[in-house]
Amino acid sequence: MDYGELVQVYEALGATPAKLEKTQILAELFRRIPPHLLPIIPHLITGDIFPEQEMELGIGPGLLYNAVSFVTGVGKGEIEDIIREEGDTGRAVKRLFERRPQKTLYTETLTVERVHEIFTSIARSKGSGAQDRKIKYLAELFSSATPLEAMYLVRTVLSELRVGVAEGLLRDAIALAFEVDVKAVERAFMLTNDLGLVAKVARESGEEGLRRLTVTVGRPLRPMLAQAAPSLEEALKEGDEVAVEIKYDGARVQIHKKGKDVRIFSRRLEDVTEALPDVAGYALASIGAGEAIVDGEAVAVDPETKRPRPFQEILRRFRRKYDIQQTAQEIPFETHIFDILYKDGELLIDRPFRERRKMLEALLKEEKGRFMLAKQLVTGDIKEAERFYHDALSMGHEGVMVKNLDARYVIGSRVGYMYKVKPVAETLDLVIIGAIWGEGKRRGWLSSYYLGARDELGEFRYVGRVATGVTEEQLEEYTRLLKPLIEFQDGKEVRLMPEVVVEVGYQEIQRSPKYDSGFALRFPRLIRLRDDKSPAEADTIERVEELYRKQGASKKDG
Ligand code: AMP
Repeated sequence: MDYGELVQVYEALGATPAKLEKTQILAELFRRIPPHLLPIIPHLITGDIFPEQEMELGIGPGLLYNAVSFVTGVGKGEIEDIIREEGDTGRAVKRLFERRPQKTLYTETLTVERVHEIFTSIARSKGSGAQDRKIKYLAELFSSATPLEAMYLVRTVLSELRVGVAEGLLRDAIALAFEVDVKAVERAFMLTNDLGLVAKVARESGEEGLRRLTVTVGRPLRPMLAQAAPSLEEALKEGDEVAVEIKYDGARVQIHKKGKDVRIFSRRLEDVTEALPDVAGYALASIGAGEAIVDGEAVAVDPETKRPRPFQEILRRFRRKYDIQQTAQEIPFETHIFDILYKDGELLIDRPFRERRKMLEALLKEEKGRFMLAKQLVTGDIKEAERFYHDALSMGHEGVMVKNLDARYVIGSRVGYMYKVKPVAETLDLVIIGAIWGEGKRRGWLSSYYLGARDELGEFRYVGRVATGVTEEQLEEYTRLLKPLIEFQDGKEVRLMPEVVVEVGYQEIQRSPKYDSGFALRFPRLIRLRDDKSPAEADTIERVEELYRKQGASKKDG
């Protein structure tokens, strides 16, 4: 299939804001394309390119511009000028391609298959010389692209496709295209995490085929997420009795065991097994099942005081590629397991939490101080719950989780059933979408960050700018992280690929007609990097609005 044909679909999708119309355009596409493209095209449309846990391109604006420069013969400086003028990288590249002399144009027609093949080669390019190979592959793509195709290739690479299609819409489209129940599509997606596969099965064997899809040990599932409860008392309303657990301040780990093989996945579904050999070892010894998937939190503890260590130290271990054993000794982990999703051929997510916990208790052979069950109290008594909460805080933990004992495990959703109760005011996890080069003492550093919240289509809308709460050390770290993401610069301001998630505190949320999100944070301050979260998991405008309303309510109360 010609890539140009897909690009026409992108254009049509971009041209209409109506969800129903978008769904129809996509359904029509899914029915029309050859079967071998069904596993591929949904990923291209969400902009993920690959099923989320598998691979990523690893291309930033710098590499991209090198390739564009190579193909168009235009210097990088001029390319950046044009991008600045256009205010949009995709459109700028289109303009550059329109200027190319005719004879060098489209010697070969670009196909979707070829695009996918080249993206795969790019993602697989690792080790020395990888950068050069990636540029070469990109250049190959661009050399047979029309200007409009080049624009969409650029947008795909930069994760800014802007066709206004989020996952939910794709699920609706698959259901519509192959006349299957959308609930069956949702469930199949939840269990496999692969929309392409779901589309293929829906087409080939309908609803029945979708029902047969299940989890695969070794393939990560999106974790169930927590909601914030306004108070312990409120959270206790979940049932006559609830489970109150310590909220460990570490990093989420989903552990898959199959025979002697253990795989550990982060909250972002990255395979972090290599970085955590100690956790993997304890998991192997402790999990008493041939096959199991369990959910937990890994925390770093101070070997002397036994208190939790800062979150940044945990991330250091997750990111580690060298000296792994040594880091494991310096920053020992304690893993607390709080849920089980699968055991020896049986999917457990639909069972009530109280049963899952029982199974977990029967399954785990605890290794004290290393690999344990999360500490839990089952109670309906507020006094007892409060005591547990205060004990947790005095041990240096963040707070508690309150869980509904009758609830199922809801993959990838923040649906209630599981609440966090913390003493501090609510914070927001936002994406850095732009920055400003510092002056004076902050010269040479990106020192002030534009923050975005996710809208319902997965794009980021401006909610405020943060410059305080940034230490010198952080400035250095943030500059190192953000610099490769610069798309273009205008004066002192830079636009960034939306990649980096940060936790932000603020004094108040206000309505703002000036900002495209409709909201503005008053006195935002940077708390920490949340690189355990992907941009897709950042807080939404809906959440900002919810907090805005809550704050109004509490003012009225007060
Ligand atoms: P937050 O990231 O602030 O939304 O808080 C929810 C996170 O707390 C979960 O994703 C887990 O990583 C973590 N957590 C720590 N202890 C527990 C626990 N006992 N049960 C569930 N989640 C926990």
